[in-house]
Amino acid sequence: MGMMNKMTVADIDLKGKRVIARVDFNVPLDENGNITDDKRIRAALPTIRHIIDQGARLILVSHLGRPKNGPEAKFSMKPAAERLSELIGKEVQLAADVVGEDAKAKAAALKDGEILMLENVRFHKEETKNDPDFAKELASMADIYVNDAFGTAHRAHASTAGLADYLPAVSGYLIKKELDVMGKALEDPERPFVAILGGAKVSDKIGVIESLLEKVDTLIIGGSMAYTFFVAKGYSVGTSKYEEDKVELASKLLAKAEEKGVNLLLPVDNVVGKEFDPNTESKAVDSDKIPDGWMGLDIGPKTVELFSGAIKDAKTVVWNGPVGVFEFERFAVGTRKIAEALAASSATTIVGGGDSAAAIEQMGFSDKITHISTGGGASLEFLEGKELPGIAVLNEKK
Ligand code: AMP
Repeated sequence: MGMMNKMTVADIDLKGKRVIARVDFNVPLDENGNITDDKRIRAALPTIRHIIDQGARLILVSHLGRPKNGPEAKFSMKPAAERLSELIGKEVQLAADVVGEDAKAKAAALKDGEILMLENVRFHKEETKNDPDFAKELASMADIYVNDAFGTAHRAHASTAGLADYLPAVSGYLIKKELDVMGKALEDPERPFVAILGGAKVSDKIGVIESLLEKVDTLIIGGSMAYTFFVAKGYSVGTSKYEEDKVELASKLLAKAEEKGVNLLLPVDNVVGKEFDPNTESKAVDSDKIPDGWMGLDIGPKTVELFSGAIKDAKTVVWNGPVGVFEFERFAVGTRKIAEALAASSATTIVGGGDSAAAIEQMGFSDKITHISTGGGASLEFLEGKELPGIAVLNEKK
């Protein structure tokens, strides 16, 4: 699923055209409606600048939050439109609706180089249903469709895929960058290629584990997922969180790794606690010696060494998911050490998933990582080798 043959905004004449661009301005807001992190808006700036610099008339469309019952002020795109205006130093008009009279009138009145933001596209339930009439209404305002919302590219919604049925469709620079970097890692990685998967559930990551076993030299598994693998190996795991119904699958994956010659690394020690509590009593124990009544909450110091060593020797590293309960300060050490190892590495480093990306950012390591994916779910599906609907609909280069 390379991006080599998909058209981008750079491949199409935009002058004087009305361009509808799907962006991911689903930014976090505090209780007063102020944006607490604008990185998603910043990530779309290269595409937005390109479109207006080419002399096009830009109509932006995004969702924000999960409105369930039509228009609601707390889900308005207003804060995002205002922040974009500050960042780009240009007026950004806000329509009062999505495909209503106000949106259509403002879209029709746009001049070359001007920007209009539509209201939250999820104010219409037709959006997530990918309703063709709704997509057609959206399309009626424009001549060209640009998709630059990687975070929703794994969804087939009206604004993330449906629009391509009615308009020429190209990607923006953000989607291009996501696919260039991750596509290269999957199709033609520099080796050794190491993947680190953490997080809670094997069930969420089976597809990714299976697909990565075909590609990587080393697969590292941390987080509570590791305990399902421990049970498969016959270790007792105390009260650690694991998935009973995935033990057999974990055994199969261990066998598959062996058959493929993949070095599958599990934690050799763990920081265990008495309770799932930030202040619980804790200690480090080897993986085959987890005492009854204790639960694994983080990787232990020997494991930090083991995993960091594998990362140090790698030429390509992909990381998705925390290796411990990083929400609790005392059990965030392992996840931080992994972040440090990635930051110190000269390999191509790719981080996906909200939690791992947040760990990197909190530690100020963003500049030391080759690529932090803006889409958690989308990047996982991409790593699984699935076709993302928001990419699949884009026009091929001629
Ligand atoms: P995911 O959404 O699958 O990436 O999982 C992220 C969650 O996994 C985080 O909320 C972590 O607290 C949790 N997690 C990681 N390690 C453990 C563990 N040893 N026990 C319980 N939860 C864990």
